[in-house]
Amino acid sequence: MAAITIEKIERTFGATTVLRHVSLEIADGEFLTLLGPSGCGKSTLLRILAGLDVQTGGSVAIGDRVVDGVRPKRRDVAMVFQSYALYPHMTVQENMSVPLRMRRLNGWQRLPLLGRLLPGTKAVHAAIEIEVMRTAKALGIGHLLARKPGQLSGGQRQRVAVGRAMVRQPAVFLMDEPLSNLDAKLRVQMRAEIKELHKRLGVTFVYVTHDQSEAVTMSDRVAVMLDGELLQVAPPQEIYADPDDRRVAEFIGAPK
Ligand code: ADP
Ligand code: MG
Repeated sequence: MAAITIEKIERTFGATTVLRHVSLEIADGEFLTLLGPSGCGKSTLLRILAGLDVQTGGSVAIGDRVVDGVRPKRRDVAMVFQSYALYPHMTVQENMSVPLRMRRLNGWQRLPLLGRLLPGTKAVHAAIEIEVMRTAKALGIGHLLARKPGQLSGGQRQRVAVGRAMVRQPAVFLMDEPLSNLDAKLRVQMRAEIKELHKRLGVTFVYVTHDQSEAVTMSDRVAVMLDGELLQVAPPQEIYADPDDRRVAEFIGAPK
């Protein structure tokens, strides 16, 4: 079964069409990258998968469940934003706890400690603390839990944003240009860390970038997007060796 099935998604804003007939099946455990220039509709598509935006046509299923109209926290996905979207007044510990404090969160039953406890009780607060600590340590930010985002470097903020997504243990990670605010050296290092995370967790990643070298080094398959359309979906080598379309060839700079 596919992890995500996107069927003929369309998104218009007034007279502007931002996504046209986007169809795509993403396999369970796959690392799929949406690659395309700024403004082509990548974030809009990712937001629709997360339930943060609503398509004007077509349908999305996560696993075997059609999720059209289902609110974000009831979907089995977690999103990492380009801007990280951390709460500035909260500590790292509090930021990372937010998803676990949401009641009736989809996937709650999967969480090793929390699944067996009643929401809102003291035991749950203690379990949340343990869960956040475990995740923070795994990401090398265990010593930063008492800090606020303003007291962190870009790379540390990025790890907190990933950690906040991880604590939910979602079936699908959605990442919208998560490295674009980092300097070049850290960007390359974090690529490897995200790939490592993908390997370790074995869940599905939908990763958005306009950076071709990120797409090539990280992905099982790349979906090339231009002007609201998916032009080619294939393993990266294949896109370079055999671009389907003149526009794909031009975008990636390969001869056709
Ligand atoms: P990308 O992430 O690939 O840079 P976006 O999905 O953010 O692209 O945007 C695609 C297009 O949709 C852009 O032209 C953008 O201006 C337009 N767009 C996005 N959100 C809205 C909105 N809420 N209202 C009107 N236009 C929008
Ligand atoms: Mg974007």
